[in-house]
Amino acid sequence: MSVWVITGANRGIGLELVRQLVARGDEVIATARRPEQAMELRGTNPSAIEKLDVSDPESCTAFGESMSGTTVDMLFNNAGMRADTQAEGGPLAALKPDALSSVIETNVLGPIIVTQALSSSLAPRASIVNMSSTLGSIAETDNTDDWGYSISKAGLNMHTRKLASEWPQRIVVSMSPGWVKTDMGGPDAHLDVAVSVKGMLQVIDDLTLADSGSFLSYDGTQIPW
Ligand code: NAP
Repeated sequence: MSVWVITGANRGIGLELVRQLVARGDEVIATARRPEQAMELRGTNPSAIEKLDVSDPESCTAFGESMSGTTVDMLFNNAGMRADTQAEGGPLAALKPDALSSVIETNVLGPIIVTQALSSSLAPRASIVNMSSTLGSIAETDNTDDWGYSISKAGLNMHTRKLASEWPQRIVVSMSPGWVKTDMGGPDAHLDVAVSVKGMLQVIDDLTLADSGSFLSYDGTQIPW
């Protein structure tokens, strides 16, 4: 039985991760910005529900302190947001500094600060999964869609590579869940959340140190950086 920490666990992919992990008997510490409102999450019966806003360094520090004494085997940096790029004047004009900073704060700084705050609780062979997106693949980018979001996930991918070098005894990967029917993915997405999460957990269960520093899809295929 592994001890997991999942960020952004009150809805979407994070909630389904908790549901499937609890169902198979793993110990899950679920986090949410507003635990008191996370009714669906409560219904999944994780071991604990902790307050964590990944874009607030004080919240990350407080969470890290609350975890001292717990050994974490798996950290899933799932929490993320998509920037609004629908503005008049085209996608470049839509890249307002405030919107860009807030997506970078949540999607790049968030996982970095959460990992820093938890580092003394991570097991020597802990694994860290950073939730990325194919939209963060520089190699596969040939359009202006989701400009700010793509920048943030590409930045997160670089963090994955750096962390994999910093911690050669741990497995650190970026993962794409596919295009998933959640609030973020929308109703036209290709995958039901349960299918995406089942696939990701299979991939994570089979990871070895040789996979560290890679960018993987929910079905195990490698995504070009
Ligand atoms: P979602 O339904 O919009 O859920 C996002 C989750 O992140 C919510 O729990 C949200 O909490 C949390 N969150 C956002 N900002 C946060 C913050 N500052 N601190 C703590 N939690 C925060 O999105 P999703 O589809 O489940 O996405 C989960 C992850 O998968 C994200 O990293 C996303 O970029 C990635 N992803 C999704 C898709 C897709 O097709 N759905 C594709 C590629 C990658 P609140 O309820 O408090 O806002």
